[in-house]
Amino acid sequence: MEEGFRFVKNYREILSNFQDYLTNEEIEKAIKKSSDGFEYLVSGYNTNLDALSQDASYDFYSEVEDSQRNQEISIQSIKFISLCKHHLLPFFGSCDIIYCPNKKIIGFSRVVKIIQALSLRMQLQENLTKEIADILIKILEPKSLTVKIHAIHTCMMIDMSGNNGNEITTVENYQ
Ligand SMILES: [Zn+2]
Repeated sequence: MEEGFRFVKNYREILSNFQDYLTNEEIEKAIKKSSDGFEYLVSGYNTNLDALSQDASYDFYSEVEDSQRNQEISIQSIKFISLCKHHLLPFFGSCDIIYCPNKKIIGFSRVVKIIQALSLRMQLQENLTKEIADILIKILEPKSLTVKIHAIHTCMMIDMSGNNGNEITTVENYQ
């Protein structure tokens, strides 16, 4: 997977069905853009999560021992897009991370990178929420941690049952 994925051939085959409706130039452009888009949506598989977890934390309370102290750190509205494992259609939204640190804290941009690496894969929202929590618990060993994801699922939008309730919230709590 080091070299990344290539879906040009697959999209060429899909778009060959539309030769009666699109010009060759339109088909070539669509092959390029659609395969690029799909490659991006699964590009998280190319990220080494162990490497991303290394040196991710900083010391907290290094000089002051105060067990009564309980700072809550909240990183809100981190945007993400992911690919529904069942329908291969995108779901997207935002992720909130709230945690009470023990001895370690984490850089905000590292949190964003972790969420990106885990969301740019074929996922179910419930598992994505859990995987983000698991890796952050491993890195931070926090007093408590909550991962909350709000997402719109395009697979639910094309559901012909007329069900419009397509915003889903999942919450993973650790204490
Ligand atoms: Zn789906």
